[in-house]
Amino acid sequence: MTSVPTVVIVGAGFGGLNAARALSRAPAQVVLVDRNNYHLFQPLLYQVATAGLEPEEIAKPVRAVLRGQKNFDFRMVDVTRVDFAARRLETSAGPIAYDFLVLAPGGETNFFGLASMQRHGLGLKDIPDAIAIRNHVLTCFEQAMLEPDAERRRALLTFIVVGGGPTGVEMAGALSELIRLVLVKDYPRLNIKDVRILLLEATDTLLAALPERLREAAGKTLWRKYIEVRFGASVADYDGKRIQLKSGEAIPSGTVIWAAGVRASPLNATLGLAAARQGRIAVEPTLQVQGHPEVFIIGDAAYREENGEPLPMVAPVAIQMGRAVARNIIRQLRGQPLQPFRYRDQGTLATIGRNAAVANVFGVQASGFIAWVMWLGIHIIQLIGFRNKLFVLINWAWDYFFYERAARLITRD
Ligand SMILES: Cc1cc2nc3c(=O)[nH]c(=O)nc-3n(C[C@H](O)[C@H](O)[C@H](O)COP(=O)(O)OP(=O)(O)OC[C@H]3O[C@@H](n4cnc5c(N)ncnc54)[C@H](O)[C@@H]3O)c2cc1C
Repeated sequence: MTSVPTVVIVGAGFGGLNAARALSRAPAQVVLVDRNNYHLFQPLLYQVATAGLEPEEIAKPVRAVLRGQKNFDFRMVDVTRVDFAARRLETSAGPIAYDFLVLAPGGETNFFGLASMQRHGLGLKDIPDAIAIRNHVLTCFEQAMLEPDAERRRALLTFIVVGGGPTGVEMAGALSELIRLVLVKDYPRLNIKDVRILLLEATDTLLAALPERLREAAGKTLWRKYIEVRFGASVADYDGKRIQLKSGEAIPSGTVIWAAGVRASPLNATLGLAAARQGRIAVEPTLQVQGHPEVFIIGDAAYREENGEPLPMVAPVAIQMGRAVARNIIRQLRGQPLQPFRYRDQGTLATIGRNAAVANVFGVQASGFIAWVMWLGIHIIQLIGFRNKLFVLINWAWDYFFYERAARLITRD
């Protein structure tokens, strides 16, 4: 029995990890639980998917990150249910009791009920997803080299990315560079004219959060990278060989990468709480759950509006909520009133390959090389651990100067 209260945090992502760190001096025992033993830097997952980085360069074991924190403990378990009345989590390894609970289970790929896409499309949310895309893309090239039929070969070399948000744009840009700068050397018999990369967007704009000037700059960069951008392109069906659009058009393709949406973690649906948009749960301004002052929800799993708009499902929201929730738990322990959360928006960044990015950060709007350097700097600073920063920098420099991608292995489970 500990004499201090126990704060259990579910999820070692951006929200949960920052909450745990910010509680390092709290008069409480902190127990962080996650089904994985690592914290993952999801913004660079697309580089693992396109053979630029190895998974361990963008992830770090939670125990190593919080090794020096005396009031910290970690459990690698899958949380299946929360018993609010008994103040207990049900997990894959038995119950865990809490005095305070912070739920930060993040989100999952949202296929918007399109079952065929869920079956045959490729999502990008975790390391296994990124490795699956890498294996699939590289395998398509190997199969294309063996395929005598021209139609079938072209379908194998047609890569479709769905979703014109930052993930879709970054994925399409990186895929184009992998193919046109690197794979073209590995496959000298390949006719590069057989390769097509399409970016499908259901609305009439890319990167909707950015000002028009930057959206146009992004569109031009994609065009220069031979990416066909289709607006108003809604997907109706995909059978693994041919994507069917709602307009009636069908495009033969062996690869569809689904970057069209995210929704809250399925854990939310088990909580017995009313869900808002994308399965996120509306929380009080203090991030508490209504009727349960000892329970907080943060990050992608939480729903809050500011100025009439929902807060986006992005890392800075989760990080700031993680820190705010820790401050509020400490205030609650001291018997002080809790403070409402306010999001400080730092802007949006997206890279579209070497020397090309768009940035609207800290009040500065930039595109091209300057934005790309800003993107590099911000991502290196945010990566956890000196080793990861160093290895990612070395990899990026190697790619930049030698037009190489280190991780071009097709691995099997
Ligand atoms: C491909 C991709 C690119 C992105 N790019 C950007 C970007 O450029 N900029 C940006 O700001 N944001 C980006 N995001 C969004 C950003 O990563 C999320 O908003 C952020 O990770 C949310 O943080 P979180 O703490 O809420 O959840 P997460 O970081 O997702 O962490 C949730 C954690 O909970 C664990 N978990 C979930 N359910 C359970 C359970 N039942 N039991 C145990 N553990 C559980 C998971 O294993 C995970 O470790 C990107 C996301 C993706 C997928």
